[in-house]
Amino acid sequence: MNERLTQSLKRAAQVRPDASATLCAGRRRSWSECKDRVARAAAGLQALGVAPGDRVGILALNSDRYLEAYYAVPWAGGVMLPLNTRLTASDLEYMLNDAEAVALCLDEAFVHLLPGLRERCPQLRQLVYLGDGAPPADDLASWDELVARNQPAADADRHGEDIAGIFYTGGSTGRPKGVMLSHGNLVANAVNAITMIGYDTSSIFLHAAPMCHLTDGMSTVAITMAAGTHTFIPKFDAAQVLQQIAEHKVTNVTLVPTMIAMMLEVPGIETMPLESLRQFMFGSAPMPDATLQRAVKIWPDMRFLHGWGMTELSPIGTMLPHSMRKPGIAGDRLRSCGQAMPNVELQVVDESGVEVPRGTTGEIVVRGPIVMKGYWKKPAETAAAMQGGWFHTGDAAVMDQDGYVYIVDRLKDMIISGGENIYSTEVENAISLMPGVAEVAVIGIPDDKWGERVHAIVVPQAGAAITADAVQAWAREKIAGYKVPRSVELRSDRLPLSGAGKVLKNELRAPYWVGRGQKI
Ligand code: ADP
Repeated sequence: MNERLTQSLKRAAQVRPDASATLCAGRRRSWSECKDRVARAAAGLQALGVAPGDRVGILALNSDRYLEAYYAVPWAGGVMLPLNTRLTASDLEYMLNDAEAVALCLDEAFVHLLPGLRERCPQLRQLVYLGDGAPPADDLASWDELVARNQPAADADRHGEDIAGIFYTGGSTGRPKGVMLSHGNLVANAVNAITMIGYDTSSIFLHAAPMCHLTDGMSTVAITMAAGTHTFIPKFDAAQVLQQIAEHKVTNVTLVPTMIAMMLEVPGIETMPLESLRQFMFGSAPMPDATLQRAVKIWPDMRFLHGWGMTELSPIGTMLPHSMRKPGIAGDRLRSCGQAMPNVELQVVDESGVEVPRGTTGEIVVRGPIVMKGYWKKPAETAAAMQGGWFHTGDAAVMDQDGYVYIVDRLKDMIISGGENIYSTEVENAISLMPGVAEVAVIGIPDDKWGERVHAIVVPQAGAAITADAVQAWAREKIAGYKVPRSVELRSDRLPLSGAGKVLKNELRAPYWVGRGQKI
């Protein structure tokens, strides 16, 4: 177990010292500069008191400094904590406190959160400004100053089973869980990614999806390992993606299906030149048939690389093989999320953990070096997820005779809208607190643009005058905007319950998914 996240950066600086590592907002840094900056920033973090194993949050939009932080934290011996940029202040404070983070690197988009963080995150001793220009407050150190003022630190040499990062995912019951990924996990995934995606020194990757999610973050490591080049836009914008592809001759980008749908809406997209792009990689959520068909029609010669994964798998579990990425060749297999990654054991099993015959629906379980070390401070949840030594994904799928996996349903009560995970329980809890609400169930219903859309079914108390608008306004006060139900149905009948007294979500969802091959 000698894998080191930092190895990829050292190798890139060794084999392509002068080649472009990062191209960001008019700045270009070579691989030797990038490594030097990371080692200096690591020294700066240590000078600020970051000790081996300490958690350091990263709360920022995409940039070259985000990538530097991704490497500087482990180089300094710390554990990185990339935070979801779309969450509410109270979610972020919860995660920083739960992880007992001692330092936080943040950029201009998040300085408005500082008063709350200073007040409610007592363990957070150091704040580092990752943005442009001077830090907006005296108690923020500047990233560029840390780089300028410190001599390069020696690599702290964390490796193997040491935790490289904690990545929070929503909790289906209660609060979000921190997924602990080791150096070994992230390196195993990066090697898989290079093999399956085909990254090499000529790869130019555009970070267009949020770097805090591993969907994009895995290429932060894999492109570095391949000594390719990183380019960035702060956050997804369809027109900017197209502009960057043209300007930097981008070869690879990973998008969630909703982002592809948004790109298809850009006026004149049919004739825009995308010659440099080798393939569209997508995953993280089901690809709606309508989006895929439109994309194939507009870009008949493009390769489409579908992947399936989750944070607990560092994150990629399956990908379409090279030969199946061309629409004309793949046929219906383009709709599958591919086969197990090279070093992954994957099975579709029944409720007792026995593999089901091919063509039968079951739960995907996974074993191998990409499986997380566990949930941070949650041994019971970790044990529940790892029964029988296999990680239970909560995704229902069918595998065909050649090992192609088709995701058909989700066993966990989760909605994916625009690539963001939303746990129904969180939304239900928020709405249940509204005066006059007797019962509430939150489900995902199909949406061609967002994949799924949050839909709330509310049963008011007798005599209560509740409106759909009022429910949405209430939810907006309590939870992040993307979790607020897009539609609310008021009904007077009680919600259907199972024998065990659980709301029958499948029954509520069924009418919306009629005529579709899958239920997500
Ligand atoms: P990610 O970074 O991949 O979004 P998350 O842990 O946030 O990881 O979400 C993982 C979940 O997203 C999976 O368990 C699955 O339900 C869903 N998912 C990921 N990829 C796909 C896909 N290609 N098709 C359908 N669902 C997917």
